[in-house]
Amino acid sequence: MDFSISRRRMVEQHIKSRGVRDPQVLDAMLQVPRHLFVEEALRDQAYSDFPLPIGHRQTISQPYMVAVMTEALRLKGGEKVLEIGTGSGYQAAVLSRIAGRVYTVERIAELARRARRVLDQIGCTNVNIKVTDGTFGWEEEQPFDGILVTAGAPSIPQSYLRQLAPGGRLVIPVGSLGSQTLMRVTHASPGRFDEERLLDCRFVPLIGRNGWQNEDY
Ligand code: SAM
Repeated sequence: MDFSISRRRMVEQHIKSRGVRDPQVLDAMLQVPRHLFVEEALRDQAYSDFPLPIGHRQTISQPYMVAVMTEALRLKGGEKVLEIGTGSGYQAAVLSRIAGRVYTVERIAELARRARRVLDQIGCTNVNIKVTDGTFGWEEEQPFDGILVTAGAPSIPQSYLRQLAPGGRLVIPVGSLGSQTLMRVTHASPGRFDEERLLDCRFVPLIGRNGWQNEDY
């Protein structure tokens, strides 16, 4: 099967047509072979307009959501970006086509291992993965020009604000377990963080010390 045709259709029908315009984002979505980030039995659905299961009750996000979140970071190219929730590794791969370096954190070791394999297979050499509770960010590597959280948080962890470079953007779904609002927080000036509400969304929970507790879920 020629997946490049499916990929082009995905970008035209599900992403461009809904208003994503950033050429770097569209280009990255055209390049990254999404079908490699899902199990073989689901490959023919990899470019469809919905999330897919990746095991451990987790999902690879809907392509449109990956595009919107990446665009919301307002990357120009070459930045240092932190992702929370590596999952399949697909979002990290998209980010790695635009950013200079991507740091991504996953709490489930098996998912991180699988993501590493696929990222290596497609030559994403600028992605670092760590297995830990990502609600603390990645202290040793801060500050970040962009932080992207791909799991829903009950509130914004302070560690993310502390690790955001001046001018940096944090994109994070915040709300209840059942529904969230995608927020962008910009580090506008020292100690000042401007918040914007972007859209309604529904993510699996951000589980950790500064997120949901395992027993809430
Ligand atoms: N970005 C992923 C992709 O492209 O496939 C999709 C991520 S999935 C919607 C959310 C991920 O966040 C899951 O893999 C989950 O295990 C992870 N997660 C949840 N809480 C976390 C935490 N505290 N630290 C790190 N990862 C976490």
